[in-house]
Amino acid sequence: MRSSSDTYKNVAENCSQYSPKNGWDTFSNSTSECSCTTCNHFTKNAFCDIDLYDEIVENHDL
Ligand code: SF4
Repeated sequence: MRSSSDTYKNVAENCSQYSPKNGWDTFSNSTSECSCTTCNHFTKNAFCDIDLYDEIVENHDL
């Protein structure tokens, strides 16, 4: 799974399981953006460990 950072962002914004690595408390005033790359479910291999990425891309035509 390789994609542009824009797609990671759009997917995370549409993802119900997005889980920011920094936690929600610091999310609103943190510099880290909502993106798969800042999600706990995103693995080192650039893969969503709960397999939601492809589904969201397809459902939202991202
Ligand atoms: S890595 Fe997976 S769970 Fe996390 S925001 Fe992306 S699609 Fe959603």
